[in-house]
Parts: sequence; C-alpha cells; structure tokens
Amino acid sequence: MSAKIIDGKAFAADVRARVAEQVATLKADHGITPGLAVVLVGEDPASQVYVRNKGKQTIEAGMNSYEHKLEDTTPEADLLALVEKLNADPAVHGILVQLPLPDHIDEAKVLATIDPAKDVDGFHISNVGLLATGQKALVPCTPLGCLMMLRDHHGSLSGLNAVVVGRSNIVGKPMAQLLLRDSCTVTIAHSRTKDLAEVCRRADILVAAVGRPQMLSADHVKPGATVIDVGINRIPAPEKGEGKTRLVGDVDFDSASEVAGAITPVPGGVGPMTIACLLANTLTACCRAAGLPEPE
Ligand code: NDP
Repeated sequence: MSAKIIDGKAFAADVRARVAEQVATLKADHGITPGLAVVLVGEDPASQVYVRNKGKQTIEAGMNSYEHKLEDTTPEADLLALVEKLNADPAVHGILVQLPLPDHIDEAKVLATIDPAKDVDGFHISNVGLLATGQKALVPCTPLGCLMMLRDHHGSLSGLNAVVVGRSNIVGKPMAQLLLRDSCTVTIAHSRTKDLAEVCRRADILVAAVGRPQMLSADHVKPGATVIDVGINRIPAPEKGEGKTRLVGDVDFDSASEVAGAITPVPGGVGPMTIACLLANTLTACCRAAGLPEPE
C-alpha cells in the first residue's frame, strides 16, 4: 500500500473540539448556547442511530439538543407545524429533519418550510442557490467535511482537476459547487457517463458518491490522486460469521490505495466528518442569528 490514509475520525474529533471551545466562549462572553433540533419521523433503524449520535455529540460540544420523535403515521401538516414552531423558537438555531421521510410526506415541501437561516443541512433551495452563486450559505455537511479534509491535505485546491462521481442534491452537486468555489476544474460523472474509468483517471481529486459497493477500483485512479470515498454500503461478511455484514465504501480500498496518493477509508473517513460539520453549521447559524462574527 502506498497511499496516505486520511484519518477522518481524528480530523472530526479536532473539528468537534474546536466547536466545543467556540461554544464555551460564546456562552462565557455572550450568554448564548447554540441549540440544534433534530426531527425523526418513523422507526428507520439507520436513522435512529444517526439521530442518537447527533444528539450525543451535540451535547458533548456544549450545545442544547432538542429531539422530536414522531410516529411514522404523522400527517404532513403536523410535521410542517412542528417545523414552523422550531423556526419561531429563539433557542433553536439549527433544524435538521432526518431523511428519508415516509412516503406520504412531501420531502421538498418540508425542506422548503425550514427557515433558511436555521437550515443546518443546507438543503433549502435558498442555501442551494446561495452556494451556487458564490454567496454566504449554510453548506451540506457531508460535502463540507470532504472539502475540509481536501484543504487540509492539499492546502490550495486551485487549478486541480476534480471528478465527482454522483450528482445527488445532498452530496454530488454541492460537492462539485464547493470544489468549483475553490477553483478546481470540476467534472461531474453519473450513471450515463461514457468511459467512467477514463474520466476518473483525469482527476487529481476523485470523489466517489455513488452508493455502489467498491465500484471504483485502481483502474479509475490516476497515480498520486487524492480519493475521497463518501459511500457507505453494508455488504455480507461471511468471514466474520454467518449472517454478519461489514461496511465498505464506493471505492475498492485495497486496489485504489496502491495507486492513490491519499485516500479516505470506510469506515473512519468521510462519515465522522458529517456530524462534526453539522455542529459547525449550528454554531455558524447561531453566531449569524446573534449578529456575532462567524467562527473560522
Ligand atoms: P444517490 O443514490 O442519491 O446518488 C447516487 C449517484 O450515483 C447518482 O447521481 C447516480 O447517477 C450515480 N451513479 C449510480 N450508479 C452509477 C454508475 N454505475 N456509474 C456512475 N454513476 C453512478 O446517493 P447519495 O448521493 O445520497 O449517496 C451516495 C453514497 O454516499 C451512498 O453510499 C450513501 O450511503 C453515502 N452517503 C454518505 C454520507 C456520509 O455521511 N458519509 C452522507 C450521505 C450519503 P444518476 O443520477 O445518473 O442516477
């Protein structure tokens, strides 16, 4: 193996520690405690784990955590009313509605109801537009975490060729916008892209956000490139025992790490950065609401 492993777990711990320090200063100097409200509708097991971890890390950072758990039969109107209530609550600086929502609820309508100034997931169309036009936005947490790791590794990203595989609204598109903002030459690849391996091999920075286990291999990686693997896929792991599973990314780590210059592992790469960036966004939203300078 030749690639440097980018340790997202350690990086995320540093980000959380920095946020906790800034939260403590905010409390001491201004008597303000940032508050994050997380709304979970239904019993999806993966979502329950995410929400639990978000609540735990919010409290560890010294912020207030408000969890709202609703039945999966909750009418859309009730969820919208809760979001409106949180919009109006001055103790709540960030609102996150855990996705996916049950089929009878219009996700776009719910996201559009969140006050853009409290939209710490960065999914509201106002924040999407602000990011796309290079203005001050709240930026989606997963791509923001990827960008922080890339800046840390490379310093300036200016002029680098970046290929983002995946064009979803929550990862691929905002990732591409952030890389463009940092003056990369950006290509977005997707399921209709012709000769994906050839496109990927042009990348100094390759971001995989596909949702297909180990789809990108050494064949997709330019020697020395930085590979950011956003994918979280659970696959059978019979070697661990019957019925056992393990997590893998969208990149075949073993082969890609022979060619890449640096690579994020799964687990322990992008994943931990997502919640750390959620806390950072909540702190940012709180400072903006209070008219205070934003943390760096
Ligand atoms: P989506 O399913 O919304 O998007 C997947 C994208 O990959 C689509 O744009 C799709 O193209 C593209 N794609 C699918 N198959 C191919 C293919 N064969 N070749 C090229 N492109 C392809 O996924 P998300 O963006 O929501 O998530 C991507 C991955 O990231 C998932 O594994 C998810 O679990 C993970 N994730 C991890 C997070 C974290 O915290 N680490 C947070 C969010 C997601 P098309 O548009 O043409 O269909």
